[in-house]
Amino acid sequence: MATVERPPRSDEIRVENPATGEFVASVPRIAPADVAALVARARAAQPAWEALGFDGRGEILRRAQKWVVENSDRIARTIVSETGKTYDDALIAEIGYVASAFGFWAKHAPRILADEKVRASSPFLVGRRLVVRYRPLGVIGVIGPWNYPLTNSFGDCIPALAAGNSAVLKPSQSTPLTSLLMAEGLRESGLPEDVYLVAAGDGAAGEALIDEVDMIMFTGSTATGKRVLERAARTLTPVSLELGGKDPMIVLADADVERAANSAVYASMQNGGQTCVSIERVYVEAPIYDDFVDRVARKVSALRQGVPDGPGSVDVGAMTFAPQLDVVSRHVEEARAAGARVLVGGRASHQQGGRFYAPTVLADVDHSMSCMTEETFGPTVAIMRVSDADEAVRLANDSPYGLAASVFGKDVARAEQVARRIEAGAACVNDAQLNYFALELPMGGWKESGMGSRHGAPGIRKYCRQQSLLITRLAPKREIHMFPYRARTTKLIAQALKLFYGRGKRG
Ligand code: NDP
Repeated sequence: MATVERPPRSDEIRVENPATGEFVASVPRIAPADVAALVARARAAQPAWEALGFDGRGEILRRAQKWVVENSDRIARTIVSETGKTYDDALIAEIGYVASAFGFWAKHAPRILADEKVRASSPFLVGRRLVVRYRPLGVIGVIGPWNYPLTNSFGDCIPALAAGNSAVLKPSQSTPLTSLLMAEGLRESGLPEDVYLVAAGDGAAGEALIDEVDMIMFTGSTATGKRVLERAARTLTPVSLELGGKDPMIVLADADVERAANSAVYASMQNGGQTCVSIERVYVEAPIYDDFVDRVARKVSALRQGVPDGPGSVDVGAMTFAPQLDVVSRHVEEARAAGARVLVGGRASHQQGGRFYAPTVLADVDHSMSCMTEETFGPTVAIMRVSDADEAVRLANDSPYGLAASVFGKDVARAEQVARRIEAGAACVNDAQLNYFALELPMGGWKESGMGSRHGAPGIRKYCRQQSLLITRLAPKREIHMFPYRARTTKLIAQALKLFYGRGKRG
């Protein structure tokens, strides 16, 4: 590996390791004008893939699951090289997720997408058979962010493929290597040519993809998500959006403080805090506030940060995306200037040519500070004292975001009641982030955190066209309601309606 000296050519993407600044690899950059041809290839390959059926597709997805596990070291090192995250973060939250997702969708797609028989309720439908069925949409465009090249970019292709679609993935131009490696893995696992294609390019390539595909699955910032939605409106292309977050944690006075502190530290610092469902703000009831803050500060100051190597080499890696370092620095500086206590960290560093932000604990913060109102997306945790659960809920909901949340308390029923009051698409009690691994639970943000969801039944049905079938086997030559209208028949129908619905009891 050598440091890049010449400027990149317009037809290439040069990937650098954020933890070292070293050149990793160069890959061809797709021009926006070439995206249509790529999608056409995916479209041509789709019917045969659909025709393989759930069993045929499932077999290939299970082989891919095996391939991911057999090649986990190579995949982890690729992810580490282009993101600067730790080997452990790559293995647990990326490879662990995708390995499970291949098996989950291979197993559950046939059931979730099977024909559904529906009972008719209207008297007009007597004798009819009603069925809902799902057909793949065709070509799904997946646009992904840089923070999880495997989980959040590639991962969304898995249910799309399981449903019988082709997928064209546009990864972030900062992290294209993992998506390309997965093309190799899928080919070796027997995926037919062109069913999964990678459009490694910039935002303009993303826009071109929106114009060409049958549906867009987008994960990224709220600002870009809005642009994606506007673009998709031109072609009325369906869109599912997984966007930014500012996840709160509420620690109730009866919580197991040690577990809550460990969870807060892990869920805020894991992946260097560059996770959509990172815990970014913590509201702690006054009686345990000082104890909680002390424990979190001690645990965060013990974290090892540096250039990631193999398993266990460091706890917190680098900042993947250069502009994000400025956002994190600004939030911490603004909090410091407004009177927050910076108990640990609070500075950027450029050790060994990489870009890092020290794991940081902010205490005594309030909602006038950007660290509590804007997405920080770095290794920081901001902690605020609250007088009671009501204040905690009010502040947790005082946000344009509503991705996920967590509540800690020993009285689990009470903690659950608090969790139910939080405006977020997912809420954990005595846990944080773990719902992401519950592939059977839909996950989608409220408010500015998204539209639609991944996982669960909606997480694969969104990749399908839904068709309703009404099947009439035996019927008279002419139905009673057909032309010509006659006063006597219409009056009879009116009487029947009265008999049927007149008591306000029928559904
Ligand atoms: P961005 O919104 O900057 O980029 C996301 C993707 O969109 C990238 O591939 C980007 O390309 C592409 N893109 C940029 N402009 C356009 C455009 N006009 N049309 C189509 N595509 C475009 O997000 P980040 O990569 O910075 O990711 C971080 C964000 O993602 C955070 O806000 C985080 O919360 C969110 N996120 C949400 C998740 C969730 O599940 N809700 C999960 C993970 C992250 P390029 O990078 O090449 O410019």
